[in-house]
Amino acid sequence: MGIDTSTIELDRSGNRPPRALVDPFARAITYLRVSVTDRCDFRCVYCMSENMAFLPKAELLSLEELDRLCSAFIAKGVTKLRLTGGEPLVRRGIMTLVSSLSRHLGTGALKELTLTTNASQLSKYASELKSYGVERINVSLDTLDPDKFRAITRWGDLGKVLAGIDAAQAAGLNVKINAVALKGVNEDETPQLIEWAHGRGMDLTLIEVMPLGDVGEGRLEQYLPLSMVRAKLSERFTLDEIDYRTGGPARYFKVKETGGRLGFITPLTHNFCETCNRVRITCTGTLYMCLGHEDAADLRSPLRASEANDLLYAAIDEAITRKPKGHDFVIDRRHKRPALNRHMSVTGG
Ligand code: SAM
Ligand code: SF4
Repeated sequence: MGIDTSTIELDRSGNRPPRALVDPFARAITYLRVSVTDRCDFRCVYCMSENMAFLPKAELLSLEELDRLCSAFIAKGVTKLRLTGGEPLVRRGIMTLVSSLSRHLGTGALKELTLTTNASQLSKYASELKSYGVERINVSLDTLDPDKFRAITRWGDLGKVLAGIDAAQAAGLNVKINAVALKGVNEDETPQLIEWAHGRGMDLTLIEVMPLGDVGEGRLEQYLPLSMVRAKLSERFTLDEIDYRTGGPARYFKVKETGGRLGFITPLTHNFCETCNRVRITCTGTLYMCLGHEDAADLRSPLRASEANDLLYAAIDEAITRKPKGHDFVIDRRHKRPALNRHMSVTGG
């Protein structure tokens, strides 16, 4: 039986509005993460190898193309957009993109425009971000010890990052801290991180290391199950599970002693795929439907093939029909190779 098109409303130009994104498991896709560059001024040991090969600059989407791509997803029902990377704030001209995307906040189509950053450049950009309607940001920081910080990031300067966080809070941005739990590196520091973050009015989320890309050292040496961290923290703090959600995969607890929120992102010990509402695009316009699978769709070709968005919408629709039910990461002695060759910096966190 054919579809009765007489009931489909047309927009002001007489075009059919683009279809909303619903995957084969009835999950509505409303959250897009965009890696605006795969480059970074740090080389975190769990994210990158020391000598990373980056995508050729010639293959990068321009800022205008990134804007068009994001806007197409917003037209298809995406309400939350996160800029990430690599380090999003090292992409030249990034504020032009933030500024142009903020028009969708103005129309109400986009509910949240945010970013994940290592904060190295945040002193410079915090006020501007706030002026473009960014309300909350995630800052990745795994330790408050300058030497450990240098060892984890290889190239980072803790002082600059802390100054960036100060600037963000002074500008009125709500900052959440993300810390990757690393065996033998920051595992004894979690209580201090909690007290420091909560003392400054910031939520803290702990993340399990994921086996993405070859980083030059074994994942088993890095991997610390958060179930263990939580058990240890429970000896010192009272953790009450709460129903707080940010649209991401974290489960949140209220820490009674500090009054702050503590999140756990546990891709390995507790798979969070049932409620997955997100997809990711790279800086070259490749769409990844799942962080844990190789399958991807090229959106750069349909984007460049025509000035109208019909081909692009069709490519996005087709890709979403291939969104898998979930992923299964395993880190143990039998799984020595990375689960995927792709580094986290390609698709963003
Ligand atoms: N450069 C920015 C930053 O560090 O916040 C944004 C991109 S970074 C890839 C996004 C997040 O992914 C960071 O919080 C980082 O700690 C996390 N990450 C990177 N590699 C990871 C891995 N293999 N497993 C778990 N988290 C990882
Ligand atoms: Fe850069 Fe972020 Fe990866 Fe660290 S985690 S190397 S800051 S992209």
